Amino acid sequence: MNKLIITVGITGSRITRQQTPYIPITPQEIAQSGIEAWRGGASVLHIHVRDPKTGLGTQELSLFKEVVDRIRSETDAILCLTTSGIPGRNLEFQERLVPLCLNPELVSFDAGTINMRENVFLNPPEFLELLAKETLAKGIKPELEVFEVGMAQTCIRYLEKGLLKPPLHFQFVLGIVGGMPATAKSLLYLSEIIPEGSTWSVIGIGPGQLSMTVMGMVMGGHVRVGLEDNIYYSKGVLAKTNAQLVERVVRIVKEFGRDIATPQESRKILNLK
Ligand code: ZN
Repeated sequence: MNKLIITVGITGSRITRQQTPYIPITPQEIAQSGIEAWRGGASVLHIHVRDPKTGLGTQELSLFKEVVDRIRSETDAILCLTTSGIPGRNLEFQERLVPLCLNPELVSFDAGTINMRENVFLNPPEFLELLAKETLAKGIKPELEVFEVGMAQTCIRYLEKGLLKPPLHFQFVLGIVGGMPATAKSLLYLSEIIPEGSTWSVIGIGPGQLSMTVMGMVMGGHVRVGLEDNIYYSKGVLAKTNAQLVERVVRIVKEFGRDIATPQESRKILNLK
């Protein structure tokens, strides 16, 4: 079987210190947590930044730059910077595109609008087309975040229109309230409808994280874990670091007999330049 790419969602934009004291907030904390996860076996670091004063998600360039510089100086990790802004506090399109100027190898591409609990996560066609064009112009690969089937169909349509270039890379996000549940059926269906030659990874949100990780591992896909998506190590027990969640995947996958991809190997698998 092909090697497994482990991505880590370091902090996201939603989890607060009230929910867990272990969520990284400052640029130093976010970078350090990413570096530890890379040491543990993660080859892709998915990065959001937080306003250190309020703890809220932000698209502030100087904060992204500090995190990116620190990580680049110590690791060969692939960086996937977010363009999602803050779901529910929908930011201006241009603000969401800010991280592209740091030339990451990947940026997130949330392929449609969705209700997330009481919030609306707006990703209208104008934004997606703008983001697709910018990634094409800059040679950055979009990581296609898909929360439900319609989003996968949108990606296929954009591929046909030439707005996305093959091979596509999907990140299936399962278990969000308002999206597809974190079940074997959801994952199987999505993995079967994407264009041949695409790569995919799966995120199980919250309690779905471990089961989706194991499913993705067995099915030959790739996986994302991390505090952005799940703050617990086990029922009622908070995870203390991102590395802890990554290291668990490494242990399971070794027992299963599949190798972990290094960042260099991940670049080849994802067809990055
Ligand atoms: Zn994210």
